[in-house]
Amino acid sequence: MKLPTHGRLAVYAAPNAPFVIEEHPLRTPMPGEVLVKIRMSTICRSDIHSYQGHRPNPCPGVLGHEIIGTIVALGAGLSHDMRGDPLAPGDRITWSEYFIPGPDYFSEVVGLPQKARGVDKYGHMTVTTPPHHHGGFGEYCYILPHSWILRLPDVLTDAEATPLNCGVATMIAVTEAAAIRLGQTVVIQGLGLLGLYGAAIAKARGARLVIGIDTLAERRERAARFGVDLAFDPMMDDATLLNEIRAACRPEGADAVIEVCGVPGVIPLGIEMLRIGGTYVLGGVVNPAARVTLNANLLLKKMLTLRGVHNYHPRNLIEALDFVVANRARFPFHELVDGIYPLDRVNEAMADAAERRVLRAAITP
Ligand SMILES: [Zn+2]
Repeated sequence: MKLPTHGRLAVYAAPNAPFVIEEHPLRTPMPGEVLVKIRMSTICRSDIHSYQGHRPNPCPGVLGHEIIGTIVALGAGLSHDMRGDPLAPGDRITWSEYFIPGPDYFSEVVGLPQKARGVDKYGHMTVTTPPHHHGGFGEYCYILPHSWILRLPDVLTDAEATPLNCGVATMIAVTEAAAIRLGQTVVIQGLGLLGLYGAAIAKARGARLVIGIDTLAERRERAARFGVDLAFDPMMDDATLLNEIRAACRPEGADAVIEVCGVPGVIPLGIEMLRIGGTYVLGGVVNPAARVTLNANLLLKKMLTLRGVHNYHPRNLIEALDFVVANRARFPFHELVDGIYPLDRVNEAMADAAERRVLRAAITP
């Protein structure tokens, strides 16, 4: 098959500058690479933070890391996905949002490949960095060596499959860190996309009761379809909220509390919602400016566990795929991608996503 010579990419020159569609050259994939024709890329909250300049991202930049695509050409040495399924041109795939220069201390000894030295992510590099096509807001993407690839089963729609490699896999890792067991009670602070996946996964892991907290009434209503049994508006006074949660999580508090709202100010109250020996997991405070004052004595006396989770282990991507395949009839994951835009309308997609007019905007080249 003859490769196309160029592909279109949406490039932004500086934070908040409009995206401009540019053409950049394509080449044959090098060993260990895959050239993919993008089918869909969803706008993650972290894309919005990068675009607005709240977190450092080099410019002129290409964004988009929640991506699925169809294999155009495989580089030498790549014939199977990480589960051992054969890969061939035409296959629909997802892949880890990050890639590493090679095995190192953090990937091999500590077991945190997402923290390997020199790790980089799709949608996080300048467009001038070869091979130029390494983000989701475009027609093509090169999957670079030391990424983790999974072939997608036909049963999943593109909308169900695209959030797998960031939103779903991250919440698999977060709920794993929360060590949710059969019959437990879980509180989720924030009912955006991560919170909804988190609620559904907590239920699938056997939670008896999932409580959601969000300021937006429509989010609290929607959450009921994703496994949230009780939803509260955090604008009520803290003592009342705490009493309500303790009453629901007898005898004295939740087994696990998960932060996925990105607001550091909610952390102290979240810790107070825990029972003795409970676990608090941070999953949303991705911005560098996230200072908060805690009563450390409470952590000590209640023997609490505090965990931070950033991205995920490749095994979590496999679990994410299997979770969505197994639970797509129980939870309406197809509803989550609620705005689809062609590449030419990327500026409108970003504005709608930033203003929360849509839950997950998707760009289809
Ligand atoms: Zn993301």
